[in-house]
Amino acid sequence: MKKDLLLFNELANHLLDVENQSPVSTPIPATQLYERLDLKLKDDGIPDDEWLAIMKEVLSFTPKTATHHFFNQLFGGRQGKAVVGDMLASLLNNSMYTYKIGGPHIGIEKQIIHNSCALIDYPKTSNGTIATGGSMSNYMGLVMARDYYDNTCRNQGVTKKMIAYTSKESHYSVSKNASFAGIGRANVRYIKTNERGEMMVSDLETQIKNDLKLGYHPFFVNGTVGTTVLGAFDPVNEIADICEKYKLWFHLDGAYCGTVLFSEKYKHLIKGVNRTDSFCYNAHKMLGTPLSCSMLLVKNGQHLYDSFNNDASYLYQADGDDLNPGKTSFQCGRRNDALKFWALWKSIGKNGIEKLVNKHFELADYARSIVRDNPDYTLYSSDDSVAICFNYKDIDPRTLCAELYENSTLVVGFGYFKDIPFVRLVCVNTNNEKKHIKQFFDLLEAHVGERIEG
Ligand SMILES: *Cc1c(COP(=O)(O)O)cnc(C)c1O
Repeated sequence: MKKDLLLFNELANHLLDVENQSPVSTPIPATQLYERLDLKLKDDGIPDDEWLAIMKEVLSFTPKTATHHFFNQLFGGRQGKAVVGDMLASLLNNSMYTYKIGGPHIGIEKQIIHNSCALIDYPKTSNGTIATGGSMSNYMGLVMARDYYDNTCRNQGVTKKMIAYTSKESHYSVSKNASFAGIGRANVRYIKTNERGEMMVSDLETQIKNDLKLGYHPFFVNGTVGTTVLGAFDPVNEIADICEKYKLWFHLDGAYCGTVLFSEKYKHLIKGVNRTDSFCYNAHKMLGTPLSCSMLLVKNGQHLYDSFNNDASYLYQADGDDLNPGKTSFQCGRRNDALKFWALWKSIGKNGIEKLVNKHFELADYARSIVRDNPDYTLYSSDDSVAICFNYKDIDPRTLCAELYENSTLVVGFGYFKDIPFVRLVCVNTNNEKKHIKQFFDLLEAHVGERIEG
């Protein structure tokens, strides 16, 4: 292993050098991938020096998500301590189902869950788990809601026409999850949003009443704090009022921006979160922690147990259920996604995490000021958002994003709201400073300048 770690060191250093020299790697057209890179698997192995050379090539051509030129996804950059934690999780290779095999890492995960629950004012009865991502956290929220509404579903399957509600701007996992959970995609109602992309609670109530009149069974509302495209925050307290009135499970999808729970300055954006039944946030989005790291928190931990426990005499042989988180997780073998986030949190503390969150909003404010001060830009997203959705001059954003990527200038994507396409600049890279945001606009404007001249 020590010999392989020397190879790793060489590769890691190579990667960091490449990132410095070419922050946007040259894209390989998918049709040429196998001609350009030696990816084919063969019967015979190869010597280490050849292996090293191929690995270096693969690293060079891999899209770079940690550089100051990457704005395409809801993650970017890296926090060193979190990366080290993740690499150690690979070396240790524990599995998170039992205390016998997880040891201290069970306690590490519990620290993350319990401190997160405390930050959103969940009661002592709360619990949680680290899921494979926001999609899975949302799925587990839906399954708990299903079983809470009708506890025969676990054994008999879904027999009623059960209806779930989510906004038109919510993440696509909601409809996928409805199909997986036996609810059915057709039984998801999409609630209208206002001009800022926030759920319109009046429409929510109208649709619930309508379904009740038809004899259907409303059981679940999914709210979103940080919608995927616009970064909008649904009105949490208003949705909670409706959920209490109609006795519906309230799951809040904070995969993107739920991380504001760490910030005194911005946690007002999720005010009322303590009134939800379940909530999730991803450390792999705003917090520079490697994918994936999604915390699912449940106000009454019993629901997590009721929906996800299963006996297995070959596995659960020691310690109580409390120390065997396999009883409250989806998987059997479960990767240790706790250590990386704990390693970061331990290192910089809650206050350090708060600074990371605040910085994203400050950089977003700065980006918006650039857009607002120049009449060549049109802004589509609102002031609360860490996403800056804009168009520049009358250039089609789809073409612009493609050109910026093909020229290895910037990696940024586009989105749509009410059928209008725009560039979506996301401020989630914990390594960025104002000058990198300025550089983004300078590069974009320079590209468009050359384009018009050319
Ligand atoms: C990213 C995102 C998800 C999905 O999270 P994954 O970890 O990618 O599965 C869910 N909801 C919202 C609002 C998101 O932005």
